[in-house]
Amino acid sequence: MTISVAERATQMKISRNAVLSVVLVQLLLVTLAAGQVRHEINFPDVLGFKTLKCDFHMHTVFSDGTVWPTVRVDEAWREGLDAIAITDHVEYQPHKQDVPTNFGRSYEIALPVAREKNILLIKSAEITRDTPPGHFNVLYLEDINALNTEDLIQAAKAADAQKAFIFWNHPGWKPEKKGWFDIHTQLYENKLMHGIEVANGDSYYPEAHQWAIEKNLTMLGNTDSHQPNLEPQTTAQNHRTMTLVFARQRNAEAIKEALKEGRTAVWFENQLIGNGKYLEALFKESVKIGKPHHRTKSTVWVIIRNDSAVDIDMERAGTQGPEKLLLPANATTLLRSSIQEGAEQLKLSYVVRNFLTGPDKGLPIELTVDLRP
Ligand SMILES: [Zn+2]
Ligand SMILES: [Zn+2]
Repeated sequence: MTISVAERATQMKISRNAVLSVVLVQLLLVTLAAGQVRHEINFPDVLGFKTLKCDFHMHTVFSDGTVWPTVRVDEAWREGLDAIAITDHVEYQPHKQDVPTNFGRSYEIALPVAREKNILLIKSAEITRDTPPGHFNVLYLEDINALNTEDLIQAAKAADAQKAFIFWNHPGWKPEKKGWFDIHTQLYENKLMHGIEVANGDSYYPEAHQWAIEKNLTMLGNTDSHQPNLEPQTTAQNHRTMTLVFARQRNAEAIKEALKEGRTAVWFENQLIGNGKYLEALFKESVKIGKPHHRTKSTVWVIIRNDSAVDIDMERAGTQGPEKLLLPANATTLLRSSIQEGAEQLKLSYVVRNFLTGPDKGLPIELTVDLRP
């Protein structure tokens, strides 16, 4: 069979198109695969609990955010989180002309994607009142509509009736009106406020940190994202503000139990903020010091590992070791220290300046190096 020039040209075009489509499909597959990459955040489990990375405050187009609910799940996956709460405002719906008010819809839309990506999604909302009292996030809701009441206490009681977890958001948001008011005492004394944001986005609130300690409120740190999060991954220098939750298991109920029991720490910029018990445990599980690999009469060289996502910034509190000691995240640091001749042990007393057990209060720690051969 002979093929005309025209037919041959058509055939070549077809095969070129076929090659092109194969290339396009491959490109698409590569793109899809790239979209699925997750960068884990390295924090050790502590005291028999799993350390879960969580963000309990963010918005979508269903209130005043600019992203579709599934995008929040994609971001959480990419950045290595375990759990998120989408907390669209109940009373503030600036997009309602385009996206009708539909409480809980952002949760419903995000849930199938959260299941696919193994992100724990907690049904939540933000109660939004003028300051004071301000804004409150409510996690673990069945019925968000029940919070849509005139009276704040009534809304908080409706949340409590659903066994929800309630926390005070961005308590230092409006500097001219910030403070602990009677309404906060009323909520607190009626057990209608269980936690408080000590950090929100790029703000840290030392007063709120102090209140959390004095009143035994659970400490939280969240993004309160309204725009898309553009970070491709989580690093020590560039990460979202988040809450580390120390939970018995990796599931939503275990997170709730941990929140109610105050088992959290906050990762804000280059600081971990929380109860000394958890910060100390995080330090001990993250920082491993070996035996010296080299020694002279008066000096030893030893390796220290930091298996956590935080750059650990230490200042000497004792007499031995370098004055300042920085242990970069997920890395090994070489330590050189003078020793007493014939010493069997080197005790290094430091304060971890960026592990805050209170405002401006670092965590004291002690590292012991076994010098015996
Ligand atoms: Zn708010
Ligand atoms: Zn908010």
